[in-house]
Amino acid sequence: MSDKGRACAICEVVIEAPPFCVTCGPLARRRFGRKRGRRRDRVVDVPTGAQWRDALRAAWDRDAKSFRCGISGVRLDPSGLIPALYPTLDHASPGRGAGGWLVVAAAINDMKSDLDLDEAKRAWALLSAVVGGTRSASDELERLLSGLKHFRSRAAPRG
Ligand SMILES: [Zn+2]
Repeated sequence: MSDKGRACAICEVVIEAPPFCVTCGPLARRRFGRKRGRRRDRVVDVPTGAQWRDALRAAWDRDAKSFRCGISGVRLDPSGLIPALYPTLDHASPGRGAGGWLVVAAAINDMKSDLDLDEAKRAWALLSAVVGGTRSASDELERLLSGLKHFRSRAAPRG
């Protein structure tokens, strides 16, 4: 068998037992439930196995021999020893159907919450300005947060 035929289907490291190496296997075989939330009353889009594996391949940095967060670029920790850096699934455009799947650090995913990627980038830039001392950015951030498309708070009263 050629080296190519014995490469991990995600990171392409040569291995004894294809299709996946010991690092990529548990990630690649992860399945996602469509129901979310404490009451399991939220139905969300989930990737197919092939879409998820595509996202993992896209997140793999061959030079660094690491997965990288699709939003922040930080190296991810698939072992789970550093929970904030655990690779999680993120949907760049929630509510807009399949596609746009990203592998994202757990901490970044929690910060992003239900915001689509565009909203999150704008909100983080404004928040950065506000915490950096630019008070006038508060008004724009307030408008942005008032008009979020998909956000559902875990803490605020249910509307
Ligand atoms: Zn691998």
